[in-house]
Amino acid sequence: MTRPSSVTAIYPGSFDPVTLGHEDIARRTLRVVDRVVVGVAETATQAKQPTFELEDRLAMLKEVFRDEPRIECVAFSGLLVEFARERGASVVVRGLRAVSDFEYEFQMAQMNRELHPDLEFIFLTPDVQMAFLSASLVKEVSRLGGNVSRFVSPPVMRRLHARFEEER
Ligand code: ADP
Repeated sequence: MTRPSSVTAIYPGSFDPVTLGHEDIARRTLRVVDRVVVGVAETATQAKQPTFELEDRLAMLKEVFRDEPRIECVAFSGLLVEFARERGASVVVRGLRAVSDFEYEFQMAQMNRELHPDLEFIFLTPDVQMAFLSASLVKEVSRLGGNVSRFVSPPVMRRLHARFEEER
């Protein structure tokens, strides 16, 4: 197996919305590959109804990674392996927080390997400060009026406020 001279990784997810945990994983990935394509899945995994529209999820990601030219944020629909092929990516990165993430991630990686045997999956763990963080928990706290400034970047916080103001 040969290694391409420039390695691109896809970091897929629903990013509903992007948290500091996601940011940590994307930036860490640049330590081992040359470029990262953050792929925002149009259709959420595990049949979750997204809180933010696709355009909003993408807009937040772009703002958050504006300082990093090696990270590109794009939306995708359909199979992850097809998206990886289109982008010339040889690696997919996912974050692992706890044992609870493992089973689902392991299944997905094995299925994707059946679909695209040349694609490698790598799993990175976040900074310990982010290990308990999830987008759904952040939304729950924010919806109830809690302060989430330690868990998301300012552009995301603004949108969370706006989103949940509407509901009140
Ligand atoms: P999905 O809906 O596909 O699970 P998410 O947007 O929830 O997508 O997450 C994308 C990826 O980022 C997943 O691999 C998830 O485990 C990982 N992730 C989410 N939050 C964190 C975090 N706080 N630390 C590390 N990885 C995380």
